[in-house]
Amino acid sequence: MSGKRFAVFLSMKGCKGRCVYCDQKAITGENPPSPEEIKNAIESSDIDFEEICFFGGSFTCLPTKNQRDYLQISKDLSIPARMSTHPMCIDQRALDLLSEFPITMIELGISSLDDETLALCRRGYTGDDGLRAIELIMRNNYDVCAQLMIGLPGQTMESSLMDIKRLAELKGPRDMTLRIYPCLVLENTELYRMMGDGYEPLKIEDTVTWGGELLFNAEKMGFKVQRIGLSETPSLAKAVAGGPHHPALGEMIRGYGMAKKLSCISKEGPWFLPANRISLLTGHGGMGLKEMAKIVGLTIEETKKRIFVRTSVVD
Ligand code: SF4
Repeated sequence: MSGKRFAVFLSMKGCKGRCVYCDQKAITGENPPSPEEIKNAIESSDIDFEEICFFGGSFTCLPTKNQRDYLQISKDLSIPARMSTHPMCIDQRALDLLSEFPITMIELGISSLDDETLALCRRGYTGDDGLRAIELIMRNNYDVCAQLMIGLPGQTMESSLMDIKRLAELKGPRDMTLRIYPCLVLENTELYRMMGDGYEPLKIEDTVTWGGELLFNAEKMGFKVQRIGLSETPSLAKAVAGGPHHPALGEMIRGYGMAKKLSCISKEGPWFLPANRISLLTGHGGMGLKEMAKIVGLTIEETKKRIFVRTSVVD
């Protein structure tokens, strides 16, 4: 489906404040297009888009007319929409407006549920506010995606794991999707200045462990993890001044998650892996394999010998 998404980046439109790590313009390198421009671009494209996505701002805090104008495209072209928004931009009135349009999912920026981290990041909500917003979205029968971050000021792996535990308790047997974004330091942000004031961005290896633990536990709790890490763009690469910036970070984290999963099935092996999953362990200098050897307490060579490839593939 991702190839059939028409993504619109709203560059912090609707945001009440500016979170310390955020510079949407640097991430996307775009100014937001007008509804007419979006409609024209979709209509003149050869692609049969299945979804229009409004990302990079606080959609439900945009003036009502703007929201309607954007969502009308969705109605006119019969292509459902999804949007990302801020927890404090969710109330019954906002959801009632969305109910007039075809919406597939609401994505909520729940970078953390830890109040100290949220305050340090100037996110403008508390953990309880975040949970209340998710509950209201689910009560209105929308699919929800929580966009989590790791490596934020004041945040620890333990607090991240506590966040997904709280989300799992809230969701119960209902579906919930997650995205996991390791925190990057962009030049034109408050976080960049905070680096000189004691904030230490995560290193790649620590990000792989933290992200991998989060992924492993999230999948065990029944979450679907849709994406890990930001999409690489030339403007992002130019703006990154610190933090775990690597084009294959998501794959490396998934490699750790896979190592952790296999080690839970058996501490000694043999382990069987579908053909299209083996690169999660062997790719990027065999990072997943090294992590697995560490977890199970065997040498890398010995661990490798006990892994067998199945010819079947999984999606
Ligand atoms: S709410 Fe989201 S888009 Fe707006 S400033 Fe914060 S991180 Fe950026």
